[in-house]
Amino acid sequence: MSDGFASLQVQHGYVPGTPQNAVATPIYQTTAYEFASLQDAADLFALRKSGNLYSRNANPTQLVFEERVAALEGGRAAVAVASGQAAVAIALLALAKHGEHIVAARQLYGGTVDLFQETFADWGIEVTFVDQDDLDAWRDAARPTTRAFFAESVTNPTAQVLDVRAVADIAHAAGVPLVIDNTVATPYLQRPGEFGADIVVHSATKYIGGHGTSMGGVVVDIGSFDFGAQPERWPQLTRPYARIKDVVLWERFGPSGQAFAVLLKTKYVHDLGPSLSPFNAFQLLQGIETLDLRIAKHSASALTVATFLAGHPEVAAVHHPGAPGNPGAAAARTYLPKGAPAVFSFDLATTGDPDADRDRVHRFVEALRLVKLVANIGDARTLVAHPASMTHSHLTDRQFAEAGISRTTIRLSIGLEDPADIIADIAQALVAAAPVTDPDIVEVVS
Ligand SMILES: *Cc1c(COP(=O)(O)O)cnc(C)c1O
Repeated sequence: MSDGFASLQVQHGYVPGTPQNAVATPIYQTTAYEFASLQDAADLFALRKSGNLYSRNANPTQLVFEERVAALEGGRAAVAVASGQAAVAIALLALAKHGEHIVAARQLYGGTVDLFQETFADWGIEVTFVDQDDLDAWRDAARPTTRAFFAESVTNPTAQVLDVRAVADIAHAAGVPLVIDNTVATPYLQRPGEFGADIVVHSATKYIGGHGTSMGGVVVDIGSFDFGAQPERWPQLTRPYARIKDVVLWERFGPSGQAFAVLLKTKYVHDLGPSLSPFNAFQLLQGIETLDLRIAKHSASALTVATFLAGHPEVAAVHHPGAPGNPGAAAARTYLPKGAPAVFSFDLATTGDPDADRDRVHRFVEALRLVKLVANIGDARTLVAHPASMTHSHLTDRQFAEAGISRTTIRLSIGLEDPADIIADIAQALVAAAPVTDPDIVEVVS
């Protein structure tokens, strides 16, 4: 069987099972499935048998998507849901409950920070945030009640590269799995499981779908974490499963690598209902068929744009691992050998006057034409955002400093257009944003 990345992304997981012999995975737009017999139904409900039951838990289009993502991440099982936010939430809810604790990187997607600081806090799950590069802080934050470590492999908006191996080792010494959000890198640029991550989550809304059309999320169980080693810590897997008599998930499904996925589907997706629609599963599958081609181009174009920005007099800093002097360069050689992701940011040179800086940022963003002002990343189109006005608008100055950004930081998500056109659009917007008295820029204009 061909198991190259591209072969997997186009074919894995789908066997035409219908008399129509459709070569593409059909959209199975159905809420439920006809049981062969009452015995068949009873076996499915009791988890004695696996199969289609009701589309809140899964639909057949989604199952192909799950198998394909699991294969691309080198995992044993995957669970797809309606959004990346749902994927992060259920992966962690399945590990930590009321009175338990999570250690997380401080450099996280804003929606994840909201989930941890507010909703998890409401539910009695405490999260300690640490600087992801401070290994002692990770070590010191672990407690007897800790049930997971959580971080992003490459952060948004400043493209910081996590030392996955080091954080995984600390998590494992503390007896807990490392959960990695691999949305920005995608399995094409990095497979966190190869560096010790145990569970990988994605907002499939971004690069996996890749076209800015469809929400989705996925949790992949790499299968590396042994929940049986300290069974008293993981009663949800190692004690009889309350809702299905006589089943201990770790005994029944541990050997096949499905135990965590079965827990996610039969409890958290079942109870909370963040189901992926068959149509979105189809769109995400279509996106994934070109993942390597798209990411290679996204990554190369982003490096070209970052290099252009690094040499521009109106740019104070470029937060891209390939930019000159970036502190992530060494980590990128280990963790991103095929290239860096296409989400990164840069700082417009500051005037020293906050009002003038705000005006410059506005003029820059308003002048862009090809580059779209959108609260998203991972689209085929090039997108811009201003964190201080948008995703990070509620942060204090100290939190800005901790996040490594400023009020003139601009985030880019480089798309699939011609890189020369992207650069030309950014170049003219930098002219529009420049102080009119700047001699360098007057020269460019004339
Ligand atoms: C967008 C995003 C999420 C949330 O995903 P949705 O699909 O928008 O719910 C989580 N993590 C990262 C890194 C993201 O970029």
